[in-house]
Amino acid sequence: MRITDVEVVVLRKPLPTPLVVSRAAIPARTAILVLVHTDEGLVGLGEAVGDPAGVVPILREQLRPLLLGEDPFDIERLWEKMYASRLYWDLKGALVIALSGIDLALWDLKGKALGVPVYQLLGGACRERVRAYASDLFWDEPEAMAAAAARYVAEGFGIVKTHIGRDPEGDLARLRAIRDAIGDEVGLMIDVNCGYDRPTALRMGRQFEAFHPFWYEEPLRPDDVEGHRELRARLPFPIAIGENEFTKHGFLELFARGAVDYAMPDAARVGGITETRKIAALAEAYHLVLTPHSFSSGVLLAATLHLMAATPNADLLELDVTGTGIYEELLAEPLKIEQGYVMVPRAPGLGVVLPDAVRARYRV
Ligand SMILES: [Mg+2]
Repeated sequence: MRITDVEVVVLRKPLPTPLVVSRAAIPARTAILVLVHTDEGLVGLGEAVGDPAGVVPILREQLRPLLLGEDPFDIERLWEKMYASRLYWDLKGALVIALSGIDLALWDLKGKALGVPVYQLLGGACRERVRAYASDLFWDEPEAMAAAAARYVAEGFGIVKTHIGRDPEGDLARLRAIRDAIGDEVGLMIDVNCGYDRPTALRMGRQFEAFHPFWYEEPLRPDDVEGHRELRARLPFPIAIGENEFTKHGFLELFARGAVDYAMPDAARVGGITETRKIAALAEAYHLVLTPHSFSSGVLLAATLHLMAATPNADLLELDVTGTGIYEELLAEPLKIEQGYVMVPRAPGLGVVLPDAVRARYRV
């Protein structure tokens, strides 16, 4: 089998109200989908998560020519060919994001060609269902966030995640409202999306103790490894980072310097399924939990589920419960969710599809 084309389709779903986090607002849900076509008619579907303005030209102009005529089963070799393709290396950012999209498509294609789900290609299932948390409670009035949190708990989720970090007083008011609404038994993850500086992150962290956080996510800029290490040493709850880190080399530094408890690589950013597997093995050697970041389309959700099914030290699927994503429409079979657990899909490949109607409805 040979690769005959690499097609990029950008989908965009405008939102009636933006999803707001500490330093940004999301006005629309966007998905960069990558289709790897072959001479046997089989097509692999993957996703890259990043800014289309940077990622799409790299996919179309730089990586596509490298793949034409290649054997799509040679995933490791093609990964290296794409990563090491430039005179001046792009060790992080758009190039790695772009090749992540192709990597996911190649795994999907291989599974479809062999008639097996991707988790089987990755060593087989460690579990049949994955514990999930409700993602996310975006910045809103405290009462609205509390009501949404209570709704997620009523649906069976034992852990919910909230985005704060816009102003210290407002942050505490929102945590108080959410904790009051969900009671003491439900896990509460606090995600700051890199919104604090070092003194604020420590001062706020000490005040968060009253709300018993499950974890403290991205309190600082992603390049402040030492700052995260210090917070981890000084606060009595775990630190979760990784959605803005790239490749095994980036994660090795986080692990070796003791900057993280929950490692959050995003398979559609970090270097694909291929690289996330290596990060998982590194995390296992450091006795850390792999909790992949996943907040995009149904394609990344499926890739994350297969990875977590086959990874011994994986836990806590990030499940988008906002109803805003291009999500179920891209899954070959409906998602089965039971009391906060998601069943691992069994369709061949990643179990993802891009129906013409979905393509037409959201295409940019
Ligand atoms: Mg986050």
